[in-house]
Amino acid sequence: MNLSRLDDTSRLSELENFNVVYGYGERDGRFERICRTVCNIFHTPLAAFVLVDHQKSWTKAAYGMEMCEFPRECSFGALIVESNECLNIPDVARDLGACAFPQVAEGGIRAVLGAPLRVGGGLPLGALLVADRRPRTFSSHDMKLIQLVADIGMDQMMLHRVTMNYERRAEISRKQAEKLKSQQTVLKRKDRMFDQVSRMARVGGWELDVRSSQVLWSDQVYRIHELPSTVRPTLDDAMQYYPGKARDLVTDVVNKAVEQAEPFEFEVPFITAAGNERWVKSIGDVERDGDQVVRLIGTFQDVTEQKTRERYIEHIATHDDLTGLPNRKLFQHRMKAAIERAGQNGQCLGLMLVDVDHFKSINDTLGHETGDAVLKSFAAKLTSCVRQEDTVARIGGDEFAIVLPDLKRPALAGEVAERIHRSVCSGIHHDGEDVMTSASMGIAVYPGDGCNQKELLKKADIALYEAKNAGRSRFAFFDPGMEILLSERHRVLNAISQAISERQIFPYYQALVRASDHKLEGFEALVRWRKPDGQVVPPGFFQAALDDKDLSCEIGHLMAVSAIKQMAEWSRAGLDYGVVSLNISSDQIRTEGFAETLLDLLEQNQIPPGSLCVEITEGVLLSKDRAKIAAALVLLSENGVQIDLDDFGTGYASLTHLREFRVDRIKIDRSFISVLPDDAESLAIVRAIISLAKNLNKHVVAEGVETADQARLLHELGCDSLQGYLFSKPIATEAIPDLITGWGEEELWVKTA
Ligand code: C2E
Ligand code: MG
Ligand code: MG
Repeated sequence: MNLSRLDDTSRLSELENFNVVYGYGERDGRFERICRTVCNIFHTPLAAFVLVDHQKSWTKAAYGMEMCEFPRECSFGALIVESNECLNIPDVARDLGACAFPQVAEGGIRAVLGAPLRVGGGLPLGALLVADRRPRTFSSHDMKLIQLVADIGMDQMMLHRVTMNYERRAEISRKQAEKLKSQQTVLKRKDRMFDQVSRMARVGGWELDVRSSQVLWSDQVYRIHELPSTVRPTLDDAMQYYPGKARDLVTDVVNKAVEQAEPFEFEVPFITAAGNERWVKSIGDVERDGDQVVRLIGTFQDVTEQKTRERYIEHIATHDDLTGLPNRKLFQHRMKAAIERAGQNGQCLGLMLVDVDHFKSINDTLGHETGDAVLKSFAAKLTSCVRQEDTVARIGGDEFAIVLPDLKRPALAGEVAERIHRSVCSGIHHDGEDVMTSASMGIAVYPGDGCNQKELLKKADIALYEAKNAGRSRFAFFDPGMEILLSERHRVLNAISQAISERQIFPYYQALVRASDHKLEGFEALVRWRKPDGQVVPPGFFQAALDDKDLSCEIGHLMAVSAIKQMAEWSRAGLDYGVVSLNISSDQIRTEGFAETLLDLLEQNQIPPGSLCVEITEGVLLSKDRAKIAAALVLLSENGVQIDLDDFGTGYASLTHLREFRVDRIKIDRSFISVLPDDAESLAIVRAIISLAKNLNKHVVAEGVETADQARLLHELGCDSLQGYLFSKPIATEAIPDLITGWGEEELWVKTA
């Protein structure tokens, strides 16, 4: 049977399937074994397993010869393939002619027996050949035998192909399996990561089918809802987890997204199926079919922790650490909002500034812990005295502010202030000690006192200042007159401050005489301000400066330095000035090292301490730093400095105070003296004071003596010393030497008056 061209094409494609078209270089053990076997069967020295393509034939395996390749036209294999039948050539040289297969002839081949190597359909791919170097006749049995072996060889080929294919496929599947496995591993890892990330971020995904209202949730969304993933919610079901206003907001957002086909985002409170309060955030987008929004898709995140953190940070930023009250920032924010609201609904608003009285002294003497306890108790008490809608804030160290919105009438703010007054005056008990506390309060009311925050704060501050000035532990409503007083005060403070730096502050001296014989006993140094125009101004015109902490200390120091230097000068001039008194303010006596400085000054100027007297008022003895003041007085007293209690009878000093502090002399206030002898009540008081002082063994001075009758009466009542215009007005330093030297000359003291 001859092969047509078409068959050759099918044959070649079949050959290709065997994957053996190219090259013969690779030896194949199995085919070599076949070649060796056929050589043994036919007792031939040579055998070859030959494959034939469209151009050439080549040995796939050979025995007794080299692996080689022939052009198709001089190949026995090709002959067999083309005839597709066994080939039996007893003598190649004789039967085919020497030139037909030169390479074969050169190889010494004489006899050839071959059979086609056929695949299933009978197509020959090559041939199995045996060859002898001598002519030989192969029998028909030999031909059947070689065909049998060729078929076995072909089976081997098939097996080879199947094995190859199988192996290839196995390799591919192994690789694919490996790839698949690794892809699966990556996928699983990614899944795990995604799940972990979703859990950590508490974020899940959801879809809403707009038409059916059916909602699809991811596992994480179920977890956030604290629901089993078996539940199949509708939009209505999903909505029930949003409380009140949040539900309205989410409904609006969803409706708007559907109607306007817009992306959306919301962050709202949420209550889980288990009843836990959370905050959730959803970011979503729409999916359209034509013009219609058919689906909403979004993320759903539990942002409670984030929200809590944000709220905590906001709380720290807007609240005071110690008391937990709103701080100045939040107070301003609330007040602004309250003013806006009051403007809209036409109601009053109260602003109250509250100051803890003597807080610095509490801190200094009882320690910061007690100070903190006082502030905390104030915070609690203030809060308990106001309504829920009022804001109590701590806006400074010991300053609190209260916003009282929606006041029906301004007077209600006064009622709150009274409640606060009663509450804070009960003091606190801390660390085994009772601490007395009180508050000064200033109130301004919107819209009467101001229409904006700045105005109201300013007015409330002025009112507070007035409350403090009036003796603290009280409240004051703002009054326009206060503003005038305040600006006057500012004017005075500025003027005195300037006067100090321009050395316009200096002492005048007023004589003190012995009551019995009017002998000169000493002088009181009294501050004066010489204005640039030469006018000498007494302290009544600049009282605010004497009440000011810093300025009164500066003035006091200046007075001490001037007076002590003056005393040294008088001493050098041989003038007997007796004892010079200095008026000391309560702030000055509390100044660190006050007594030491004074003693140093005396020493530097070689003035015996017994020549100096310090005058303090009862108010000083009643002030908070009593221990400090007592220590300063003790030090001065022990060194010989005299202590006078000035303006006695006007304050609230008790007998205890006289015993408690080292006081040498009591100066009865001018107000009792000036009305003598006619005012019976004052006379009784003066008499009582003198007898009290005598019993306590104190010296008594009467100030403001203007008439000889008064002088005589006071002497009769037992007064030791007298001071007043009757003897001498306060006079300038330059006039003192003459006064001293001329003292005692008849009527001199009366003339100077
Ligand atoms: P003070 O210490 O009670 O001084 C007595 C005041 O009474 C003096 O007023 C004096 O001029 C006035 N005076 C004395 N005798 C008479 C009199 O017979 N008739 C009348 N009408 N007045 C008399 P001045 O100098 O105006 O001082 C007023 C107050 O200013 C002093 O009262 C004292 O509290 C305070 N002051 C004066 N100098 C200083 C100072 O250097 N430091 C401090 N912290 N306060 C001072
Ligand atoms: Mg005085
Ligand atoms: Mg006085």
